[in-house]
Amino acid sequence: MVPIQMVDLKRQYLKIKPQVEAAMAEVLDNAAFINGAPVQQFATALQEYLGVKHVIPCANGTDALQIAMMALDLEPGDEVITPSFTFIATAEVIALLKLKPVFVDVDPKTFCLDPVQVEKAITAKTKAIVPVHLYGHSADMEPLMEISRKHNIPVIEDNAQAIGGNYTFKDGTVKKVGSIGQIGCTSFFPSKNLGCYGDGGALFTNDDALAAKIRMVANHGQSARYYHDVVGVNSRLDTLQAVVLNIKLPLLDEYIMARRAVADAYDAAFAGIPQITTPFRAANSFHVYHQYTLQLNGIDRNALQQYLQERQVPAMIYYPVAAHQQKMFAHLGGNDFNLPITNDLTTKVISLPIHTEMDQDQLQHIIDSVHSFLNQYSK
Ligand SMILES: *Cc1c(COP(=O)(O)O)cnc(C)c1O
Repeated sequence: MVPIQMVDLKRQYLKIKPQVEAAMAEVLDNAAFINGAPVQQFATALQEYLGVKHVIPCANGTDALQIAMMALDLEPGDEVITPSFTFIATAEVIALLKLKPVFVDVDPKTFCLDPVQVEKAITAKTKAIVPVHLYGHSADMEPLMEISRKHNIPVIEDNAQAIGGNYTFKDGTVKKVGSIGQIGCTSFFPSKNLGCYGDGGALFTNDDALAAKIRMVANHGQSARYYHDVVGVNSRLDTLQAVVLNIKLPLLDEYIMARRAVADAYDAAFAGIPQITTPFRAANSFHVYHQYTLQLNGIDRNALQQYLQERQVPAMIYYPVAAHQQKMFAHLGGNDFNLPITNDLTTKVISLPIHTEMDQDQLQHIIDSVHSFLNQYSK
């Protein structure tokens, strides 16, 4: 059996190796390393894929979030509502800009921001709401956008884990996640659903003025060459990364279907096991399974992880420590935040391997390993 990895980038690469090598060789021949034609080609292709007016590529997903907050003119002390149950980048950039992260609890089924809790957390100082489409499942965007409109607070979607996923509104309108809020942010980190071969990221918006501001902030605050109107950053997508993304974007829907097939097999294999809750699929969310994350009920997570490890099955805890529990946020009150669902999830979740290259032998071995652990455990 081919060794099982959380994500198998090597085997995915081998399938597109000739195209990637040819496209990279062309960049090298042209020496157009910065802002070469493939960067704009990719932005245009992603605009069409997502159904948004503007895609602004940047250097990574963390920069995308930071640039979004800078472009919205958020000021020190402004409050930004975000989940604590997320990758640290979401909350980190808020603090980096001297804004105040206001951590709100998540829905226990979707793992994403709970709109009811969001509304309760709004104050006169709230200047942005940052939902995260965690593990590839959409946050509940319709009520979040209603809150956004009612209080006139922009929404920045952290779409690093859910590119290609979509959300269905009550009237039947279907939109790609990341295209619903004022700004969407994503990452092309290699292991993301649309990953390049290094760092990369992008911002999306339908607002022309905001797009212009984002471009300016991402390019040293420059309005015309050598005229710098605001303090910005230097954040670009390399041409070499853009050529990889140009090859992979047309394959994204196939990649998603391959991930969903793995999820379907896991769902079927683990249905009805009381110690395991399989990932929820809300009717309004098309899940793209960046992660396949189980909740364990009354069984020892470390023991399961170790048992799987002994059978060459990797399993990861995303995330063992929530943002509000991190040392970097100790000054905010740490565990004083009332986030019972988040606290509970950090002790219960475990993610199984899921990627585009999983074969039947591997899948069966993972499923059998989980089953045999449970059989032993219940004896
Ligand atoms: C990966 C990720 C980021 C950061 O992306 P980078 O490209 O690594 O900077 C931000 N938010 C979430 C939810 C992520 O998963």
